[in-house]
Amino acid sequence: MSEFVMTIAGEAAPTEATFGVRNPATGEVFAQAPECTRQQLDAAFDAAAKSARDWKADEAARRGTLLRAADVMLASGEVLAPILTAEQGKPLADAGVEVFAAAIWSQYFANLEMAPQIIQDDDTAYVELARRPLGVVAAITPWNFPLTLAFWKIAPALLAGNTLVLKPSPYTPLTTLKVGELLRDVFPPGVVNIVSGGDELGAWMTAHPVPRKVSFTGSVETGKKVALSAAPDLKRVTLELGGNDPAIVLDDADPAVVASAIFAGAFMNNGQVCSAVKRVYVPEALYDDVVEGLAAHARSIKVGEGTEEGVKLGPINNAPQYERVKELVADALSHGATAVTGGKAMEGPGYFFEPTILTGLSDGTRIVDEEQFGPALPVVSYRDLGDAIDRANATHFGLSGSVWGTDTDRAAAVAAQLECGTAWVNTHLALSPEQPFGGFKWSGIGVENGPWGLAEFSEFQVVHRSKAPDGLNLNTASLLS
Ligand code: NAD
Repeated sequence: MSEFVMTIAGEAAPTEATFGVRNPATGEVFAQAPECTRQQLDAAFDAAAKSARDWKADEAARRGTLLRAADVMLASGEVLAPILTAEQGKPLADAGVEVFAAAIWSQYFANLEMAPQIIQDDDTAYVELARRPLGVVAAITPWNFPLTLAFWKIAPALLAGNTLVLKPSPYTPLTTLKVGELLRDVFPPGVVNIVSGGDELGAWMTAHPVPRKVSFTGSVETGKKVALSAAPDLKRVTLELGGNDPAIVLDDADPAVVASAIFAGAFMNNGQVCSAVKRVYVPEALYDDVVEGLAAHARSIKVGEGTEEGVKLGPINNAPQYERVKELVADALSHGATAVTGGKAMEGPGYFFEPTILTGLSDGTRIVDEEQFGPALPVVSYRDLGDAIDRANATHFGLSGSVWGTDTDRAAAVAAQLECGTAWVNTHLALSPEQPFGGFKWSGIGVENGPWGLAEFSEFQVVHRSKAPDGLNLNTASLLS
């Protein structure tokens, strides 16, 4: 792999120190990533602040730049996808889709309307509600979808007129660093700065005095630290955090159909999706059929190194996450669960784990209550639908969920009772740039995507033009009389 360098003020910013990045398919370090110093972080924020004035002045230029960035991404799939597969583990085809999605998000925001709203237009005043940029954004991303999630931040932040400093996860810094390099000539210097380092670098960013906003995607635990760190100088925060999505199967569902779709919703990206299905509730009468359907998919899917032909599931991304999945599955088994398929790590090098379907367990077991974020799915049976809904909601998480049944009105009525940001009916993980995405409860604060996500990268500003000759509009005058 070629050398990976940070981008600060539109230029390559070499570092003295580096850290190793492992290929999760082998467990071996295959590349070095730059370790950003505090001085370099200051320089990045300084560059972002300096470029903000010109950048916010020209909306048409911002839109054009986002479109050019999308073109570069579309043309760079063959460069970026292999790097993403090497550092993240996902199959090459999925890595290509992720690069494509980054471009789609850039195009979407390049074309998203953001005209001011007119609040009043009469004889006394013309009042407009405008959105103004916040300034500099500190953006922090996780390791499951480093590129897509970077563009969920870069594209709306830039369209809204902000500049930014972005830090990828230390497990997957390389593709994002490469994007910084590829886009160096597209963004004006300082508008997008890409830095890399450990978790501590993230903490420096959220405490730094320059950014006015932190856009964070990651775990609940870190999200809470980010909120605390941003509080002293009242930085705005958007927190996209973890989930423990329930899928509730209704008694009129077709077991074969739902098993296939729920398997896809649970095992996409090897289960390492914030809004993947993480627990399934199935009525007793359908339980065996749904379990068998899920198990059939788990048995037949090809697991392996992402570069290998036909592989659909790669390794777990990193050693701590691999250990966590092993621990949660072992805990379930030690509490009486059955692994209908899988249940253990795979032989050989790398962080591979067998696709696992667990039965004979219920709420109160760690793998049902916690976010497993890996290729192991607990299937829980229920008798009473109201009880299943209560159990689905009895959690601090509230990212998304799904309800499955033939009577879609009934399923939608159940979906409406789920306490979560996205409630799907007969699908799961259907996401698009138009839809706001965010969590209830501990799954987050605020949303990303759509005009609502764009709005979070700005402040309201009321511009009130009085038409009254004495400067008093009717409302004020009536208060004084
Ligand atoms: P993580 O919280 O460990 O790390 C996320 C990022 O935060 C990394 O870049 C990390 O270096 C940085 N970081 C760590 N400590 C920090 C601190 N004190 N201050 C600032 N930054 C810090 O999460 P992860 O393990 O990389 O990602 C997995 C988690 O992310 C899962 O819980 C998953 O559900 C969640 N996630 C949520 C969404 C969403 O949109 N809601 C999307 C993807 C992943």
